[in-house]
Amino acid sequence: MRLDIVSCQPRMFEGFLSESIVARAVKKNLCQINVVDLREFGEGNYKKIDDKPYGGGPGMLMKCGPWFAAIEKLAAGSSAKPRIIMTSPAARHFTQADAEELAKCEHVIFMCGHYEGFDERIRTLATDEFSVGDFVMTGGELAAAAMTDSIVRLIPGVLGGGMEATASESFSCGSDLLEAPQYTHPADFRGMKVPEVLLSGDHAKIDAWRKSAAQEKTREIKGTNNAADIAASSISAPFRFSRFDEYFMNMALREAEKAAEDGEVPTGCIIVEEPDSLDDMPSSARILARAHNQTEDLEDATAHAEILALSAAFQAKGNWRLSGTRMYVTKEPCPMCAGAIVLARIPTVIWGASDPKRGGGTTFGIFDHPGINHHPNIISGVLEEPCKQILKDFFQKRRKEKES
Ligand SMILES: [Zn+2]
Repeated sequence: MRLDIVSCQPRMFEGFLSESIVARAVKKNLCQINVVDLREFGEGNYKKIDDKPYGGGPGMLMKCGPWFAAIEKLAAGSSAKPRIIMTSPAARHFTQADAEELAKCEHVIFMCGHYEGFDERIRTLATDEFSVGDFVMTGGELAAAAMTDSIVRLIPGVLGGGMEATASESFSCGSDLLEAPQYTHPADFRGMKVPEVLLSGDHAKIDAWRKSAAQEKTREIKGTNNAADIAASSISAPFRFSRFDEYFMNMALREAEKAAEDGEVPTGCIIVEEPDSLDDMPSSARILARAHNQTEDLEDATAHAEILALSAAFQAKGNWRLSGTRMYVTKEPCPMCAGAIVLARIPTVIWGASDPKRGGGTTFGIFDHPGINHHPNIISGVLEEPCKQILKDFFQKRRKEKES
């Protein structure tokens, strides 16, 4: 495996590449890691890699030229089509499933951002965008290092004992269970005792204990986030939404937040390819589009989140028929968007907050109108509370601004 990391602070990787398990993998020739200094591709005498944003604003943006030159050169020297990963705090979270998938690739390139951000056009270079958490760092280097570590340790032969060493770890092999608690000598430390069963030597009993302890720990730390818990609790609760749907509604909410920050009515929309099963890991689903309302920004009355997402999804699929997809939107679509959704043949539409005053479904009945021959499945009320709240907060703030 070849891993290229493009950065304007290449020295940040020195310790990481000379110590860690990553160093061992390189030494054993199991992977090749190159840190590429973006400045080598800088423009002019000063090797410029950043510039002021058009339209004003604080800070500097990374320029297109150096990034395109660097990535094109690295990709040209590759027999395989590389996966090109951009680190971005706004992107979806990197998961173990992503690490497992990338560990099988021949060539992976990381693009580490800096300053205020990238010229938007640089994003077209990336095949994937990932975040390592909902917080902002000064650069993408630490995020790239974290992802590199998680990928490289999965390459066969890197950890001692083959792949077995990783099989029972938290999050591995598509399981959502955390690892069971583990203990080593002494059996009693300051009165904190190791569970009796682990000292028994009875392996069947130990396995059974580990299984139930893992479930308990998962419940304790992740709430009711795993499929087994949801199945168990659905006996008492009449209906729960799948983790899959909640995951993407959360992503739509983040889009809505972006709209709110820009002074737009906060609605967000995501379109994904339909999974084989709603028990699939959400992170393995292909995202076709993500968008938020941009009516003010684009001076366009039709620039609703759903319409922008539909256009992006048509492009991503190369087809105006969006069969085999799911749309997530934080607020019930208006009549215009509902009409467009029906025309695009989206099979399943999921929204958070209903709009009883002017909703395309609840008020205008577009989704089940007898004169229309496509009737999508509707699921409403996923993450209803936060979806309502973000609208409430926005309109309250706007009223206050008008009053003052
Ligand atoms: Zn609309």
